[in-house]
Amino acid sequence: MTVTAHTRYESGLPPLGNLVDGQWRLAGEGFDVRNKYTDELIAELPEAPAETVTEAVRVLDRAARAELLTPADRATVLRRTAELLEERREAFATLMIDEVGFTRSDVDGEIDRAVVTLGLCAEEATRLTGRTASFASSPGQHHRLGFTVRVPLGVVCAITPFNSPLNTVLHKIGPALAGGNAVVLKPSGQTPLTAALLCATLLDAGLPPSLLALLHGVDARVGELLLAEPDIAFYSFTGSTKVGRAIQRGAGLRRTQLELGSIASTIVCADADLDRAVPRIANAGFRKAGQVCTSVQRLYVARSIVDEVTERMVTAATAMPSGDPRDPSVRVGPMISESAATRVSDWLAEARHGGAQVRCGGGRNQSVVEPTVLVEAQSGMRVVDQEVFGPVLTILPFDELTEAIDGANDTPFGLAAGIFTQDIDQALRAARSLRFGTVHLNEPSSSRADSMPFGGVKESGHGHEGPAYAIREVTEERLVTLNPA
Ligand code: NAD
Repeated sequence: MTVTAHTRYESGLPPLGNLVDGQWRLAGEGFDVRNKYTDELIAELPEAPAETVTEAVRVLDRAARAELLTPADRATVLRRTAELLEERREAFATLMIDEVGFTRSDVDGEIDRAVVTLGLCAEEATRLTGRTASFASSPGQHHRLGFTVRVPLGVVCAITPFNSPLNTVLHKIGPALAGGNAVVLKPSGQTPLTAALLCATLLDAGLPPSLLALLHGVDARVGELLLAEPDIAFYSFTGSTKVGRAIQRGAGLRRTQLELGSIASTIVCADADLDRAVPRIANAGFRKAGQVCTSVQRLYVARSIVDEVTERMVTAATAMPSGDPRDPSVRVGPMISESAATRVSDWLAEARHGGAQVRCGGGRNQSVVEPTVLVEAQSGMRVVDQEVFGPVLTILPFDELTEAIDGANDTPFGLAAGIFTQDIDQALRAARSLRFGTVHLNEPSSSRADSMPFGGVKESGHGHEGPAYAIREVTEERLVTLNPA
């Protein structure tokens, strides 16, 4: 396999065009990518024109049929990509600190996870198997044989959000490539450069250029053009529930995997080990400035320990300095835009007006919102009823566990929840009653490992990530039968 250099570092940036068949094309209306803390211009990128979208899908469709890589080749490319990612750690880190506003600990976590995800995808590439089918119960057919094989779907489209720009992308394109598909990626217009560096790295690792396209776009336009392409077989989307609905409508009868919005809850029972729970919850509420789909937004705490937990949460939040993400001591960087930070400030003002108290944080400096612990908030306030997607954690006391479970369930969403207790019966009762895709026992809602099946219920979407699960979504089972003479 020949390896060619697609990544140029002289400018400190990945190639700046739309990627079609190995060429980075600069045609298209420009949009700005800015540093999320300083607001300085990092680069101007072209939105993919309609004809580029159509051409990209045509190239991918042809490549998907050509079976360019054996399963072992796919595994080699994915493993080599993981090695290159490690070698390019500093380039990825610098880019994500600037483009996303991640702190150093945010970027290291993001890159470590990406390396693991690529390794898992490489493993899955070589162990896709089918099943044996039985004819035993059909009269006169018992001698027939049947088995299934898993075949790629063809062209898979990945549309991704801003908040985890390596891993939301890799959890889609990794399994799709491992399963033998061609992939078109439309990353968030807020974080397109991280996606471009990843695509360049995949090509440098030996991925045939015709198997991957990268199309840039802000907002809806390029995604809508992709939905209108009939040769795309599957849409894998992570983002808001509002856009998820539009994608489901546009996909029609084609298959989709939707990882959507969330209001994540974590419950702390009176017998919980607080030395274990509090640091984990603080990290889960405030890392990446709370812009994680499973961030702890509602913290239900047994009334008998609510004062102690509140005090400990305030101490933990105060120990997470916010500000310039280039400063290695900063733990909470900027939100994705000043308008996102203003929205969170407005919601906090509304909550205060309604009687909620800010126990720490609450301040905003341009796009940075301080890690905030809120008490005395209630439903009817947007900080409780809507997805905050910012560094705000609301403590809600409960008397009986059922109250906390009912409260956590009382949202349109169902992505992930957590409960801290030392009582195994209580923990398992909660696991049965919490209507979420995942319930973590003695971990907060955002405790993700990349090998896990990961997906939501209700308006949090459907389908599963986690390479061993996603690879089944991006392949289909074909039955082969044999009727021996
Ligand atoms: P978003 O829904 O605004 O955008 C996501 C992507 O969809 C972007 O690439 C955008 O350009 C594209 N898009 C927008 N309109 C479109 C349309 N009509 N058709 C096709 N594509 C379109 O999301 P965001 O603001 O980037 O991310 C935040 C949201 O993502 C939050 O709601 C969060 O909960 C969710 N999220 C969910 C998970 C999960 O696993 N469930 C993980 C991360 C983020």
